[in-house]
Amino acid sequence: MNNFYDYTLDGLTEELLKHGFKAFNAKQLFDWVYKKRVQDNDKMTNLSKTLRQFLNKHMWFSEVVVNQHQVSHDGTEKFLFELDDGNIIETVLMRHNYGNSVCVTTQLGCNIGCTFCASGLQKKKRDLTAGEIVAQVVKVQDVSQERVSHVVVMGIGEPFDNYENTMAFIDIINSPHGLEIGARHITVSTSGIVPKIRQFSNEPKQVNLAISLHASNDNMRTSIMKINKVYPLVDVIEAAKEYVEKTNRRITFEYILLQGVNDQLWHADELVQLLRGMNCYVNLIRYNPVDEFSYQGTEEAVARAFHKRLMDQGITATLRHEKGGDIDAACGQLRSKKLTRIE
Ligand code: SAH
Ligand code: SF4
Repeated sequence: MNNFYDYTLDGLTEELLKHGFKAFNAKQLFDWVYKKRVQDNDKMTNLSKTLRQFLNKHMWFSEVVVNQHQVSHDGTEKFLFELDDGNIIETVLMRHNYGNSVCVTTQLGCNIGCTFCASGLQKKKRDLTAGEIVAQVVKVQDVSQERVSHVVVMGIGEPFDNYENTMAFIDIINSPHGLEIGARHITVSTSGIVPKIRQFSNEPKQVNLAISLHASNDNMRTSIMKINKVYPLVDVIEAAKEYVEKTNRRITFEYILLQGVNDQLWHADELVQLLRGMNCYVNLIRYNPVDEFSYQGTEEAVARAFHKRLMDQGITATLRHEKGGDIDAACGQLRSKKLTRIE
């Protein structure tokens, strides 16, 4: 039995052709499942009996099950989902004036182990399949009964350490017969796996890329993100420039402001030197404290001064709070608490 949600439209077409069915059957199936939300083969009235029998025998839907659901006062909703094998992941729904966005998990735990991040507290147990990532968006849409227009791949895990499945996931949600989420409404965030940034630059889809920078020099970055030893800042910046050149798209840098660590004006000046001349945008996020770590978020006034220092020197930047701070919505926080309780 194969999980339907694992199939891209091309993959499903190939599978059906192999078994003597027609290419358009794959489109019909996608439409039933993703557009009409019908998963009972018997209700797929325009399919032949043989195709329905084939589906009954070979396909199933690996759904995620709601284990916990929290709603924040700012409208953000956090889901702990249980996978088929009993593992727990988390997914966040954020409401914006431009639509609803969902933040998905790509791995069980994360091996990158950044010193400030709750997701890195648990070593990676395994990658999620494409279907397990798709099922998160499908379930949020089913529960909320609202359309998801944007997706950010910024939940637990390093998507570029699970590259193939992440790209298959994007293919499925972007498909006109799938969830039809525009490529420009999808953002993948990476801690800076340089060879994968290069590979991503060559992908045909217009998906946005965000790089977690969080530091303005190598020493500082290595001290909070050990991946920087493997792919130092200079290489990350070079790969980012190549991405911008190849794709003609603006790149986003995420920079969490950690009190007393990376939030001084001279850090902002260093950042300006690094990014000058690049078509980029800096997303400043005040750190959302995690119980297990002693880091604090930068004070509002200091964060504003940092933001202004960037803007004054021609670097486009926004300053925002992590959404859903009151419900542990920062990356990996809720799952981490849950695991602490049940393990
Ligand atoms: N592994 C990828 C994507 C998942 S993390 C990456 O690192 O980019 C998504 C973003 O959330 C990253 O920029 C990460 O640094 C940030 N983040 C992690 N913990 C946070 C916290 N407690 N407060 C604010 N941002 C956090
Ligand atoms: Fe992994 Fe990203 Fe968290 Fe670092 S910030 S531990 S790469 S999820």
